[in-house]
Amino acid sequence: MVKICIDPGHGGADPGAVGPTGLKEKDVNLAVAKQVAELLKPICTVVMTRTSDIRLGNTQQADLQARVAIAEKEKADRFLSIHCNSFSDRNVRGIETFAYGPGGNGEKLARAIQAELIRAAGLIDRKVKFSGSSVYVLKYTSMSAVLTEVGFISNPAEEKLLKTSAFQAKVARAIAQGVANHLGKKLPEPKPAPAPAPGKLYRVQIGAYAVRANADAQLARAKKAGFNDAFIATAGKLYRVQVGAYAVKANAETQLAKAKTAGFSDAFMVS
Ligand SMILES: [Zn+2]
Repeated sequence: MVKICIDPGHGGADPGAVGPTGLKEKDVNLAVAKQVAELLKPICTVVMTRTSDIRLGNTQQADLQARVAIAEKEKADRFLSIHCNSFSDRNVRGIETFAYGPGGNGEKLARAIQAELIRAAGLIDRKVKFSGSSVYVLKYTSMSAVLTEVGFISNPAEEKLLKTSAFQAKVARAIAQGVANHLGKKLPEPKPAPAPAPGKLYRVQIGAYAVRANADAQLARAKKAGFNDAFIATAGKLYRVQVGAYAVKANAETQLAKAKTAGFSDAFMVS
């Protein structure tokens, strides 16, 4: 099996770049890298330069040297460093991936990862770039190596995304898919999201009446207000006028807000 060394950038006393609201690059890098490692384990031998919030050396130079030394000692076939970008102009955004120079597996791996990242994340494509000597871990690793920048932590919108576990998972999956494509391997399918508990529904109710005619009148008001799927549910001796029933609570909350905006100020959720 191909051995890949995954390198979550920064760590410990070195936070990396810090976003406008304080999100630390080191934490995003580690969260993404750990997921990439798990996703790749079925198709690669994976080693990591760090798996916790630590720095590998007391200076930046020593830290970077230690990362390269791990990859060399492990005789990794590929080196993959994961970072977030940062720039003084907070409008700058997007994803880019570096290889040391053109040609060979470094460029191929960078292109495979960049393509999947852009497809999955939908951020601006800043393309594959060649670092030359400017990136230590690409210059000094003897194996094919790439460094991917999964978004600008300095951009408020992208910082917000990078903070979410959903986006981190999406990015991790894309990176792993890129590696798999490059190696000509198939990544195991993701586990399906757990289905909501059967039978449990969140209902949005805009009134409950003992007299059917009153319920009918409220139903007519609901339909007039655009709630075409409104209906009357009977429960015991009550006629409940409802404008929706949802398995997902967030959808019911959205509908509840819509009902309140439409003037049904007593609307509430029943589950
Ligand atoms: Zn970084």
